[in-house]
Amino acid sequence: MSYVDEVYERVVRENPSQPEFHQAVREVLGSLRPVIERNEAKYRRDAILERITMPERQLLFRVPWVDDQGQVQVNNAFRVQFNSAIGPYKGGIRLHPSVNLGIIKFLGFEQIFKNSLTGLPIGGGKGGSDFDPKGKSDREVMAFCQSFMTELFKYIGADTDVPAGDIGTGAREIGYMYGQYKRLTGLYEGVLTGKGLTYGGSLARKEATGYGLLYLTQEMLKCNGIELAGKTVAVSGAGNVAIYAAQKAQQLGAKVVTVSDSTGWVYDSEGIDIDLLREVKEVRRARLTEYAAARPSAQYHEGRGVFTVKCDVALPCATQNELLLEDAKALVANGCIAVAEGANMPTTQEATEYLMANGVLFAPGKAANAGGVATSALEMSQNSMRLHWSFDEVDAKLKDIMVGIFHNVDDAAKEYDMPGNYVAGANIAGFLKVATAMEAQGVV
Ligand code: NDP
Repeated sequence: MSYVDEVYERVVRENPSQPEFHQAVREVLGSLRPVIERNEAKYRRDAILERITMPERQLLFRVPWVDDQGQVQVNNAFRVQFNSAIGPYKGGIRLHPSVNLGIIKFLGFEQIFKNSLTGLPIGGGKGGSDFDPKGKSDREVMAFCQSFMTELFKYIGADTDVPAGDIGTGAREIGYMYGQYKRLTGLYEGVLTGKGLTYGGSLARKEATGYGLLYLTQEMLKCNGIELAGKTVAVSGAGNVAIYAAQKAQQLGAKVVTVSDSTGWVYDSEGIDIDLLREVKEVRRARLTEYAAARPSAQYHEGRGVFTVKCDVALPCATQNELLLEDAKALVANGCIAVAEGANMPTTQEATEYLMANGVLFAPGKAANAGGVATSALEMSQNSMRLHWSFDEVDAKLKDIMVGIFHNVDDAAKEYDMPGNYVAGANIAGFLKVATAMEAQGVV
C-alpha cells in the first residue's frame, strides 16, 4: 500500500466518527501523491504525513455559565493546536451548535496549509464551542465568553497561539474574550485578532476575507483571459465573508444576484443592495425575509437553492458541504465559469470533481479565503510594532498577498504537471513549506 493510503487509513482508524476531518485529510493527501512519490523514502522515514495529520495538542474543556433565568448552562469547548512549524498557532473560534472535535480538527488541519500559503509566519490551529450565540442576550454572550477565556487563557499568547473570529464569533465576542484575557493575565498584547478598532484591531480586517476572495478570483479569471467586470455572481451566506465578497464583487463591476442564510435565500434581479443587507444582518441581526420585504426587486425562497440561478461565477461563503453534486450540475448546466470558495470546504468532493471535470475554474478555500487570516497576521504585526496602518495600506498588502497566493498555487500545479488544478496546487504549495520547516526542526 502507498504511504499516502497507509496514513489515510491510520487517520480514519484513530479518529472515529470525525467524517469532516477524514474528508479534509483525504482531499489534501490525495493531492500530495506526486510530491510524496518523488521523495517517498525520506518522508516515510521522517513520518511527515503521520505528524502533519496529528495535532500537536488538543484541548477539550467545559464552559459553565449562568443564563438570564439564573440557570447554569454548560457547553463543550475545544482548541486544537495543530502545527507550529512555521509560526504560532493561528485560527478562528467557531461558536455554533454543530461544533464538535472532528469539525475543529478539519478546520485546524486546513488552516495549516492556508496559513502557509499566505507567506506569513503563522502555524495552524482552530477552536470553538457548541454554544449558540443566536438568541442570547449580550449579558449571556459575555458570561459565556468570559468563562471560555478563563480556561483558554492558560494555553494562548501573542507568540504561542492567536485565536480569531469565525462563524458565530464576531467583534462582540472577540471584545468580551479579549477583556477577560487582559484581566486574567494583565497583558495588553495581540493575543486575539479581529479586535475592535479602538483597542488594537486592524482596519480592513472585517472586509478582508470577502475582499481577498475577490482579489484572488479576479486574478484567476484574468490569467485565464476572462474579465470579472460585467459578470453575474451568485453568493451564498449572508455573514461576514458573504457581505464583503458581495461588496467587492460589485465594486469590481460584477452583479451579485443572491445571498442566503440557514433558512433560505434571496434572488435580487437588480443586484444585492449591500447597505440594506448590512443593515438587516449586521445591525438588526435579522432574517433575509426582512431584506426581501424592503426590496421590490428581491424574491425570498425557503430552504436550499441558491446555486440553481444562472450565474457566471459562484462564491459559496456560508459553511462546509453546502455546494452539493446537484448544485454543481446546475451550475455547469447554467454556464458557470468559475467557483471560488469563501467558506471553508463548502463544496463536497464529488461536486468539486464534477466542476473541475467540466472545465469550471475552481479556487479552493484554503487559497481563496486566506485573506482573513493574512490580515489577522497583519493585525499581529501592527500590535507588535505598536503601529496602526491606514485602510488603504492594509488593503494594498491584502491584494498583493492574494495575487501572490494565486501565482504560488498556479506555479505548483504547473510544476507537478497539473496546470489549472488549483486544488492540487494549493495543497502542494502549502505542504512543501511546512514539511521543509518540520524537517529542519528535527523530530519534535
Ligand atoms: P458568519 O457567522 O458571519 O456567517 C455565516 C453565514 O452562513 C450566515 O449567513 C449563516 O446563516 C450561514 N450558515 C451558517 N451555517 C449554515 C448552515 N448550516 N446552512 C446554511 N447556512 C449556514 O460566518 P463567516 O462569514 O465569518 O464565515 C463563513 C465561512 O467562511 C465559514 O466556513 C468560515 O469558516 C469561513 N471563513 C471565515 C473567515 C472570516 O474571516 N470570517 C476567514 C476564512 C474562512 P445564519 O445567520 O442563518 O446562521
